Amino acid sequence: AKADGRGRAQCFSTSLDSEARAQAALLADLRQAVAKGEFVAHFQPRVGAGDGRASSAEALVRWQHPQRGLLYPDAFIEMAESSGLIVPIGQWMLQAACKAMADWRRAGVALQRVSVNVSPVQLVEGDLVGQVREALAANGLAPESLEIEITESLLVDDHEPTFAQLGALRAMGVAVALDDFGTGYSSMAALRKLPIDVMKIDRSFVTDLETDSSALPSVRAIVALAQAAHLHLVAEGVETPAQADMLRELGCHELQGYLYSRPVPFAEFGRLPCVRQAG
Ligand code: C2E
Ligand code: CA
Ligand code: CA
Ligand code: CA
Repeated sequence: AKADGRGRAQCFSTSLDSEARAQAALLADLRQAVAKGEFVAHFQPRVGAGDGRASSAEALVRWQHPQRGLLYPDAFIEMAESSGLIVPIGQWMLQAACKAMADWRRAGVALQRVSVNVSPVQLVEGDLVGQVREALAANGLAPESLEIEITESLLVDDHEPTFAQLGALRAMGVAVALDDFGTGYSSMAALRKLPIDVMKIDRSFVTDLETDSSALPSVRAIVALAQAAHLHLVAEGVETPAQADMLRELGCHELQGYLYSRPVPFAEFGRLPCVRQAG
């Protein structure tokens, strides 16, 4: 038994070591990636609930790793946030999204705006307002063409500089969306104070709509909240026509999910069936 215990302990410490080594290697790779520009923006359409046509696009980061291939955010966002590298990565994404929007405009792809996910770290440590101004100006875009998506975690301890930056962005005309709504702890009282224009219902509610009878009243309550606060309401993770029908009838304005398209590279976006192309 003793030998067993030691064996397990040894095994445990070896796996800790290799875990730590893997993390250190990932961090080194991530620094390289920032220096070399190995990130790619993919785009997923958001469609009007009424007409099913793309009205906006969400930019989602991917990392073209030289050995490991295309990596998704789950593999590196946490590390990017804890190391602060999310600040330059996020700035690059803002630029990439604004450039895509300007290119679509020129190509006759009619979209109201492009939305970009922003980490709390970018608001606490970075100059998000300055970066947004720069990205818009560099691409000749009006602020109304941009939306930033933040999560509730940012808003729990009403952090003054954060609210000030969000306020400055909204004053410019940039829309602010609250992502993953319903997964955190926002109360009605908190929601009233939030500097936001758009609410995104979390995918988990949408997934459960057809199968879990408790999901429908939850979504109804979220819709009522959004309507009371005059927010634009987006549902994410829409995968079936039945979900889309329910969400449309409930009063969502925009729908997003695999039913319309997975996130795709810039070059493919303009060719999606739901995307309007002039000429
Ligand atoms: P999110 O902002 O909630 O983005 C939605 C995620 O759900 C995306 O995963 C998207 O590909 C996926 N998705 C979209 N439609 C469906 C659907 O119908 N079914 C299912 N099962 N999934 C769907 P992705 O691209 O892997 O991104 C994961 C998360 O990583 C994002 O969640 C966001 O929190 C974060 N992220 C992505 N890009 C960025 C970025 O540029 N900056 C920051 N800070 N975070 C990012
Ligand atoms: Ca998002
Ligand atoms: Ca989301
Ligand atoms: Ca999410």
